[in-house]
Amino acid sequence: MLDQLWQVIALVVVIAVIGVGLVVGLLRGRRGKAPSLPPTTRPSDQPGVGRPGVGSPDGGGVATKPGPPVTTSPAVEAPELPALAEPETPAYERPESARGRLARLRARLARSNSAIGKGLLALLSRGGLDEAAWEDVEDTLLTADLGVEATMELVESLKTKVKVEGTTDESVVRDWLREDLLRLVDPTMDRRVASSRVGDRPAVILVVGVNGTGKTTTVGKLARVLVAEDRDVVLGAADTFRAAAADQLATWGDRVGVPTIRSDREGADPAAVAFDAVKAAAEMEADVVLIDTAGRLHNKTNLMDELGKVKRVIEKRSPIDEVLLVLDATTGQNGLEQARVFADVVDVTGIVLTKLDGTAKGGIVVAVQRKLGVPVKLVGLGEGPDDLAPFDPAAFVDALLD
Ligand code: GDP
Repeated sequence: MLDQLWQVIALVVVIAVIGVGLVVGLLRGRRGKAPSLPPTTRPSDQPGVGRPGVGSPDGGGVATKPGPPVTTSPAVEAPELPALAEPETPAYERPESARGRLARLRARLARSNSAIGKGLLALLSRGGLDEAAWEDVEDTLLTADLGVEATMELVESLKTKVKVEGTTDESVVRDWLREDLLRLVDPTMDRRVASSRVGDRPAVILVVGVNGTGKTTTVGKLARVLVAEDRDVVLGAADTFRAAAADQLATWGDRVGVPTIRSDREGADPAAVAFDAVKAAAEMEADVVLIDTAGRLHNKTNLMDELGKVKRVIEKRSPIDEVLLVLDATTGQNGLEQARVFADVVDVTGIVLTKLDGTAKGGIVVAVQRKLGVPVKLVGLGEGPDDLAPFDPAAFVDALLD
């Protein structure tokens, strides 16, 4: 009887020991796992991908990682700080390097602008240039939108050379033309886009222009150019009047892992969105923030007042390093008039000429630079995502004379 009792007690003790052992083992197992959790991935650790999610501590409501863009507005409550990022990295596109793009796209330029080059060469090398022939030369240049002043300069220079040298040999004439056109396009202008951090803050680029010129597309394409250069980019969708503009911009950003700061309300204050974008970029320690703005032309005064306000509000937070004016090269004189109106309100530092692939009016490059005294920095040569090229005067002139 006593033996049996001892056996029962021994069994109970063994079971208790095993039970306690299991519980302790389980608990240890759990704790032990924590360090082996995958480390938090920062999108910026991946090449060419935007910086990670830094929530705006005081309620900016900042988009934290590519994907559905998070809306923002100063009045909006702070969303919860983001959970750890997913360990898997979405497959972002790797945009093509901007280097040598104009050379790749040169054929598009040459096709549409051969009117200048071929027309001029044919005229100049046919010999016996009389006044009527020189008028044809002038007409060709004016048709290409070179502008009256530059046309006169070029014709005078060519006339002198023909008189002095007395040759109409095509290769000689081509060299003269190349030299004179290059001088007009001005290779000495600084065409770099301010896209590196300035001290301890991101560079701020404001992109302005009339709707339809290709402004939003250009912001998207420029983001790709900068991502290809391993810059951490943030986009600000301050065109709050066109319903689709913010979506359009966010889509461009998503493709290359760049966050878009936008408002959750259509018609929200564009200056507030621009401010939030600059603030978010600073918090994310981005290299550069690109701000798309509205460009409705039907009410020019309002548009300009609004743009002035966007500029002032941004400047409360950060200096603006670059104001890019987007002009549609196919609009000719209209584009020049737009340039003047914008330049009255913001200090334009560079021109982006879009749709140069669809026009024989490449001379607008010279005309607009002269009008504003600022360089053409980028040219749009198609609707493809990587069809935006840094402007290279020599490659441009060569393409005209192809
Ligand atoms: P926004 O209203 O100024 O923002 O203009 P969008 O960015 O929406 O562009 C208007 C249209 O112009 C779109 O269909 C673009 O694809 C087109 N576009 C923009 N840049 C170029 C370019 O360089 N070449 C061509 N062919 N089309 C362009």
